[in-house]
Amino acid sequence: MHRVELSIRRTLECHGCGVCVGKCSNDVIVIEGGVAVIGDGCVYCRKCIEVCPVVKFG
Ligand code: SF4
Ligand code: SF4
Repeated sequence: MHRVELSIRRTLECHGCGVCVGKCSNDVIVIEGGVAVIGDGCVYCRKCIEVCPVVKFG
């Protein structure tokens, strides 16, 4: 699946499980209002996408 499509799907379907938070080496992910929000400093390493259950199993 295309990278942008994955990111969009994750944003739409995120349920705030928090799995991605600990995987970000730059610590730029926070859970706000029950969804993951990526702040400034993302280096697009994709580690958070690889572990996201929405992307993996959705
Ligand atoms: S792509 Fe990498 S740097 Fe960006 S939020 Fe995900 S884990 Fe963090
Ligand atoms: S791992 Fe996926 S579903 Fe869980 S908080 Fe992060 S983006 Fe949302």
